Amino acid sequence: MTTAPGEPPEAACTSCGSGETRLAQVRSAFWHDDRLVVVEDIPALVCRACGQQSYDDATVIALDLLRGEGFPAEKARSELRVPVFSFRDRAAGEAKP
Ligand SMILES: [Zn+2]
Repeated sequence: MTTAPGEPPEAACTSCGSGETRLAQVRSAFWHDDRLVVVEDIPALVCRACGQQSYDDATVIALDLLRGEGFPAEKARSELRVPVFSFRDRAAGEAKP
């Protein structure tokens, strides 16, 4: 890979404006009604400075379509068991001497 002088720079971070972004495949969680779903291998521009992930328009549309389909369970690659905590339990625990 060579970097030609005329090559367009990577897009700037939408959050902090840093030009230090890289393309990566990321994993993100979405709430769909009461279900939490995880989508892997989402192409995103990730900022090296602040960690902000941004998706291009085509990716946002594809995610919207998936949401519109209701994230059908039969299309899922795998399932995760997710531990659920209540902040109230935490607060009660902290109050003990
Ligand atoms: Zn940034």
